[in-house]
Amino acid sequence: MIRYKTDEEIQLIRDSAQILGKVHGEVAKRVRPGVKTKELDKLAEEFIRDHGGSPSFKNYHGFPAALCISINEVVVHGFPGEYELKETDVVSIDCGVKFKGFHSDSAYTYPLEKVSEEVLTLLERTYQSLMIGIGQARAGNRMGDVSFAIQQHVEQFGYGVVRELVGHGVGKDLHEDPEVPNYGKRGKGVKLAPGMVFAIEPMINLGTKSVVQEKDGWTIRTTDRKPSAHFEHTVAIHKDRTEVLTTHEYIEQNYSFKWRNKSR
Ligand code: MG
Ligand code: MG
Repeated sequence: MIRYKTDEEIQLIRDSAQILGKVHGEVAKRVRPGVKTKELDKLAEEFIRDHGGSPSFKNYHGFPAALCISINEVVVHGFPGEYELKETDVVSIDCGVKFKGFHSDSAYTYPLEKVSEEVLTLLERTYQSLMIGIGQARAGNRMGDVSFAIQQHVEQFGYGVVRELVGHGVGKDLHEDPEVPNYGKRGKGVKLAPGMVFAIEPMINLGTKSVVQEKDGWTIRTTDRKPSAHFEHTVAIHKDRTEVLTTHEYIEQNYSFKWRNKSR
């Protein structure tokens, strides 16, 4: 069942998303070779709590941390821990914030400075697919229009679109209806209408679309162990426009390696 949000509820999600944007910005300052992923997680959790929120992911079905940190062939749901980032890593950082009862959810994938040109291109195109998907997310369209646009953009380059994990409605619960797949058919699926708030989150693999879950019950990695990219925004559908509630602005201000829009 889709829960349509009132303007007041969307305002709370907007407030939550502002905190989330700043959390990502603080984390971005510290993403560099040698940092332990658990240090990033600790920083994020403290920042969220200092700003009156709580980390949406922590204890969600037993997830142990505020951030999902997913490196290289890990697609999503990686645990922060003792691992130290390396200059050849590609690092997806996903975070959710709950504030005054409402969640927001967004993710960004960082290339460290010695990531290959092939992987930088995967990231750029995955980012583009998120923006193209958002462009189709408007009142009167169907969810399949969003899904199809994302799939079409990345499959032309031979990338694999993960099937097992999808975007989702966001509100009082972190994961609500409807599902937001990154593959689908134009004109199919639920009709998008004012008051819907959902996360669009393409998970795109350099190689095969096939993924497996590690024995820890969470970590999802590519079957061929080639790298994967993941970008996510939470959006709200209004009558005459679509609002991107989350922001990557603070990440792009604060991350030292300016890799985007380098005409690849
Ligand atoms: Mg999500
Ligand atoms: Mg997320």
